[in-house]
Amino acid sequence: MKPLVAAFAAALCLLTVAVAQQSAALPYTVVTRDAKRPLAARTINGQEMFALDDLARLFNLTVREDPAAASLNITAGSQTILLSTQQPLASVGGRMTSLPAAPVRDGRTWYVPVDFVSRVLAPVSATKIDLRKPSRLLLVGDVRMPRVAVRVESLGSQSRVTLDVAPPTPHSVAQEGPRLVVRFDADALDAPDLHANTTTDLVSAVHLGATPQSVAIDLTARFGSFRATDQPAAAGVMRIVIDLLPQTETPPQPGQPPPSPPPQAAPPETPPLLDLTPPGGLRTIVIDPGHGGDDPGVKGVQGTLEKNVTLAVARRLKAAIEARLGTRVLLTRDADQTVQLEQRAAIANNNKADLFISLHAGSSLRPSVAGAQVFYLALEGYGEEARRAAQAPRDTLPLVGGGTRDIEIIPWEMAQAPYIDRSGSFARAMEGALRDRVPMSPRALQQAPLRVLVGVNMPAVLVELGFLTNAQQEQQLLGDDQQNALAQALLDGIQRYRAASGGTR
Ligand SMILES: [Zn+2]
Repeated sequence: MKPLVAAFAAALCLLTVAVAQQSAALPYTVVTRDAKRPLAARTINGQEMFALDDLARLFNLTVREDPAAASLNITAGSQTILLSTQQPLASVGGRMTSLPAAPVRDGRTWYVPVDFVSRVLAPVSATKIDLRKPSRLLLVGDVRMPRVAVRVESLGSQSRVTLDVAPPTPHSVAQEGPRLVVRFDADALDAPDLHANTTTDLVSAVHLGATPQSVAIDLTARFGSFRATDQPAAAGVMRIVIDLLPQTETPPQPGQPPPSPPPQAAPPETPPLLDLTPPGGLRTIVIDPGHGGDDPGVKGVQGTLEKNVTLAVARRLKAAIEARLGTRVLLTRDADQTVQLEQRAAIANNNKADLFISLHAGSSLRPSVAGAQVFYLALEGYGEEARRAAQAPRDTLPLVGGGTRDIEIIPWEMAQAPYIDRSGSFARAMEGALRDRVPMSPRALQQAPLRVLVGVNMPAVLVELGFLTNAQQEQQLLGDDQQNALAQALLDGIQRYRAASGGTR
């Protein structure tokens, strides 16, 4: 860990943000049961924003500016939202929600980040609001518009078309002349990537059907027959697998098992089948790859950057969890980008995650110090060492075995407090699972006042995967073997915690 950016310092920096660079962005489309209409968006200081006036008309909001309090007071039905004009924060009924940027004023008009709609308006609205940034859609009311992702594969002489549909939606698959048509019981489909598909011996194209609720699979002259099955997929996702057979082969008999699934890009030791035991209350797991963008974290002796190691392991862990548990996994970043600490916690809180795992690598002045460590948050009364460090003028925490840890001083009132016991259980499960697979530090389980865990309202741990200041460990952390071993160990830890907690959060 490196000095972690203080939330307040980050907020204060935004005080000076003026309308600097802005440009029109592609509009969003507001979709209701009856109509579609455009909603203008602008890019201001790198953030996509909506005019608050447009949102006020759309959602029946009243907006009153309170310059003395530096806030916008927004009334939505019976709810009052206080939106700071200087910080990227909103308060709804006393609950603080972070935004990617503070509002920006241009003339008489206030602009707010598009995420204001999903993070602030949607939770308080009586009407369902669903902002889909990748598709530039804003669904208002009970609009049935499932997301559909299509994959086309060649499997020997056969072809397979896989449609992942979220949420699961009733459907039918039928041959209509030279194409297969997948028809959904929906108002429309959200399938932005549908044109980007591959062709095979049997499939010449995949595109939206003649009606907005259908997908058409154009067949080649060699097509003979097909079989469609629904298969389990990640939570909230339905998978339709359509196997296409050429004319020369015998059509499949009813009840015959489907051909073996294509190889999955999963880490070694991951069983090929989904774990269909009850998910034990684990619906969403947030993995937080430490640092990123401007903040490289620890730099190894050979120049390895902590931010790259944490992202690489996070991606492997995400794939392993999705393949084995079928649980939704969100990363707080999936690129080399700067993400504030409060934002990382907010991603987990806003998505009602069941577990939060922050990944880091350690540093020590002593090159011999090595091994993985698991932390959970220290509360008052725990860890004299941690408390001393938090009260000390310098924000460093001495480490047993040498070295220091940069931390940030935190107040003790914190969202994590009610979860400390469960975080402790989670940390012990993770430590035990890591110990079975990777080298551990002499003090493998610790409590510390870590800023990134403070605001997280779910069981949360911080894992230091190893020490980059140890040359041998740095080399290991760069390799596939160690990264896979870490991902597998962390997956084991999640499963152990789930089993031990009997499915409660
Ligand atoms: Zn770190």
